[in-house]
Amino acid sequence: MTKVQNLTILGATGTIGVNTLDVVARHPERFNIVALTASTQLEKLVEQCRRYQPRYAVVLDERAAARLRGMLRDAGVSTQVLCGIEALEQVASMPEVDTVMAAIVGAAGLRPAMAAAHAGKRILLANKETLVMAGRLFMQAVAAGGAELLPIDSEHNAIFQSLPREFKGDLAACGVRRILLTASGGPFRTLPLDDLPHVTPDQACTHPNWVMGKKISVDSATMMNKGLEVIEAHWLFNAAPERIQVVIHPQSVIHSMVDYLDGSVIAQLGNPDMRTPIAYALGFPERIDSGVSALDLFGRGLTFEAPDYSRFPCLKLAFDALAQGGMLPAVLNAANEAAVAAFLAGQAGYGDIAASIEYALARAISGEPGSLDDLVEADAQARRDAGAYLQTRAIN
Ligand code: NAD
Ligand code: MG
Repeated sequence: MTKVQNLTILGATGTIGVNTLDVVARHPERFNIVALTASTQLEKLVEQCRRYQPRYAVVLDERAAARLRGMLRDAGVSTQVLCGIEALEQVASMPEVDTVMAAIVGAAGLRPAMAAAHAGKRILLANKETLVMAGRLFMQAVAAGGAELLPIDSEHNAIFQSLPREFKGDLAACGVRRILLTASGGPFRTLPLDDLPHVTPDQACTHPNWVMGKKISVDSATMMNKGLEVIEAHWLFNAAPERIQVVIHPQSVIHSMVDYLDGSVIAQLGNPDMRTPIAYALGFPERIDSGVSALDLFGRGLTFEAPDYSRFPCLKLAFDALAQGGMLPAVLNAANEAAVAAFLAGQAGYGDIAASIEYALARAISGEPGSLDDLVEADAQARRDAGAYLQTRAIN
């Protein structure tokens, strides 16, 4: 019989968190939920606690915790409520937890993912920002802690599935020539370039193929999401930037590919539904049912295009930040988070996103981070720089 896996889900109320619980619910004999965490969606968290009876629920601060305690008491649920970053680190690293789904959005996911790495957990990594900000430190922590890393991002999960099982970080030794990272091109792939500055947050959040959180939806529209994923692939697969090629594939049927020396290209295909990579990682090395319907190949064409940097300047900024290395990917990520938040709040135009990131990158100090604190500082400075740029734009 399969051993029951004890799970913590960081970011349980988000798109990835909800999809994870959907797969978990199909296999009650395999999984036991130890902890669920959320920032603001308390009603949803109460409903999840009622259904999955975790031992712990974690929220951002003491106020939210007090509210949640009252709501759980009224619902007759005995889950213990904790709060704050230390509590997130605690539920990501406690001995009774085997597997941590890291699905908090943004830089906030870094410290809990690090805690899981140091504690040697099986980490299902959705929070790509962890690798973008702190790739070297995180991979070192994974190795030192003896953790196991399984990518959830659909492209990286596809690459993981397309690499030989014995891959241990040396692509050349496995005969790999290139990683072909597919991208849908988002909602603005064919929009006339002149219309781009006028697009609205609602338009940017309407993704043609995937249903996702707002921040990553905007990142898909700008293709910063692919830029972050190039950096993510660099760290996960120890791939030099020139070995990673971005391929626009608007149908999102092929989720990425590995190109081998002998001319073979191995791909992973499927319907665009995050439950597939989630189920792959939850069941690994076994295959388990995800609830995703079988792929119907008839009546559809698969097409491919090269990305155009004048339409997607954020993709170029990400390649440049990766080439320069050090703290620049963390700066790129932080400036992007600040700019996207301003765009979603109606305080910045679409074109300001790339421009403010470029501004922050130009002011950033390079060099390798000695510790997480250096990264946190670079992150804060990048947010201030992007904010300063956006301020001047708002006044003029
Ligand atoms: P989401 O916005 O739907 O959910 C985010 C979750 O994080 C929520 O549970 C929220 O409560 C929690 N959270 C937000 N801010 C927090 C904070 N400051 N502290 C603690 N918790 C906080 O996001 P999502 O789409 O589920 O994405 C989650 C992560 O997975 C992101 O890093 C994203 O890039 C990655 N990812 C998502 C998809 C997708 O299809 N949605 C695909 C690939 C990768
Ligand atoms: Mg992805």
